[in-house]
Amino acid sequence: MIVIVGAGLAGLSCADALLRAGYEVEVYEASERVGGRCWTVRDALGDGVDVERGAQLIDSSDSAVLGLAAELGLDTVDLWAAQQEESLQGTGPLLHVEGRLFSLEEAGAEYAELEPVVRADHLAVGAEPLRGRMTPRALELDALSVAEYLDLTVPGTRLGRFLKTAYTWELGADAAELSALHLVGLLGDNEPGEFGLFGPADARYALRGGTESLVEGLARRVGDRIRCGEVLTALRTDSADRPVLVFENGSTTREVRAERAVLALPFSVLASRVDVTGAGFTAEKRRAMGELGMGTAVRTHLGFASRPWTSVGCNGAAVSDGGFQSCWEETLGLAPEGSPAVMVNLRTGRSSYDGAQEAARGFLERFEYLVPGSTSAWTGRAVTWDWSRHPWSLGSYAFYRPGQFGSISGAEATPERNWHFAGEHTSPHNSGMNGAITSGVRAAQEVSGSI
Ligand SMILES: Cc1cc2nc3c(=O)[nH]c(=O)nc-3n(C[C@H](O)[C@H](O)[C@H](O)COP(=O)(O)OP(=O)(O)OC[C@H]3O[C@@H](n4cnc5c(N)ncnc54)[C@H](O)[C@@H]3O)c2cc1C
Repeated sequence: MIVIVGAGLAGLSCADALLRAGYEVEVYEASERVGGRCWTVRDALGDGVDVERGAQLIDSSDSAVLGLAAELGLDTVDLWAAQQEESLQGTGPLLHVEGRLFSLEEAGAEYAELEPVVRADHLAVGAEPLRGRMTPRALELDALSVAEYLDLTVPGTRLGRFLKTAYTWELGADAAELSALHLVGLLGDNEPGEFGLFGPADARYALRGGTESLVEGLARRVGDRIRCGEVLTALRTDSADRPVLVFENGSTTREVRAERAVLALPFSVLASRVDVTGAGFTAEKRRAMGELGMGTAVRTHLGFASRPWTSVGCNGAAVSDGGFQSCWEETLGLAPEGSPAVMVNLRTGRSSYDGAQEAARGFLERFEYLVPGSTSAWTGRAVTWDWSRHPWSLGSYAFYRPGQFGSISGAEATPERNWHFAGEHTSPHNSGMNGAITSGVRAAQEVSGSI
């Protein structure tokens, strides 16, 4: 029997792949639902108006996500095409830096100064910096944070300030906590002369019916082999080196023995809520579990009766260093005709607000300055979700702190004894849904190759 812990995208992809290869699997999940950080809250802001607590956007290069969606017969919506609708003609994102607007042209012109430096560093770092495969320049850059790199290369510029804000909300940690290799890797992946904020990532697609339909489809295939409400609390190995896993379900504790175990839960949870002392993990693995960066993210969704942002040339997307960090219209191309437009505010950090109403007002106080009329167009409905408080993820997604490309990257995924590891945090260069799916399939291949 193969035991998989965690019924998120990674654990379910692993279970699905193993079942297809003819193995017996059992999936243990702490919460009463499957899906983990793919979590669509249906009708959250009105009939048919769903919101995404976690993942939503799919890049054109996310072939594993797009492939799974196609296999499951899901409807993929092209958000670029939705941008072409008449009311959005001539609009674009608003960038707000140091108290005033920063146009894309200004940002591009300032980036022209930084580009040759980034390109040279990217070349010197090589395609995929990983522990044990770091060039001398990769090690130097890894020792710096994103903030330090920008202070050295574009000191005192608005571009530097803008990039710090953008990388903070995109990667889930302050720019001072992120290894500079994140920035060099993503910007350096741009074609010469292009300024994609996060390289070729284009956030082009979303799923009609919500991201959760991906995990629902997989869960149907895995069927009654999924056991919800089972909280992993301890790991050890028996005398034959087989994994023994301890689960609690209410007041019941039980031990489960497995031929192989796939741990598809975040390291943040494994390190702080599971006793791993008897598992026989190497010091390297324990270090990766205990030290790997885990981002924070708060998502607040607000319903709007109209789209006041179009009157100032904004398509709903904005980045601001003045407190709210980032927002975009989540329902663009997805909402049923005539239903409210939903704006999502994504911020890194823990929420200091007491509930959704307060969080929504906090966002509007700042957004109103950029888009007058926003407060009066708000329907008064809002929901908010703070991932760092969710007990089964304790954060948003993994990142590398300065020095961790050199000290950790790659160690997350390596199998040890009869333990295997899956989850976005085990895909060093992709902490999104694509990384989660590929990690699950990779772990399934390791298991089948080892039996
Ligand atoms: C705010 C936010 C926005 C995001 N946006 C995007 C996006 O736009 N595009 C994109 O591609 N990705 C995005 N992501 C990332 C994406 O959601 C994740 O990469 C992916 O869902 C992770 O899947 P996973 O299976 O690795 O982990 P999870 O989904 O976290 O699954 C782990 C499972 O393990 C369970 N578990 C935890 N502890 C225990 C325990 N002790 N015992 C048993 N079970 C346990 C959990 O309940 C969970 O079901 C976003 C994430 C967040 C938080």
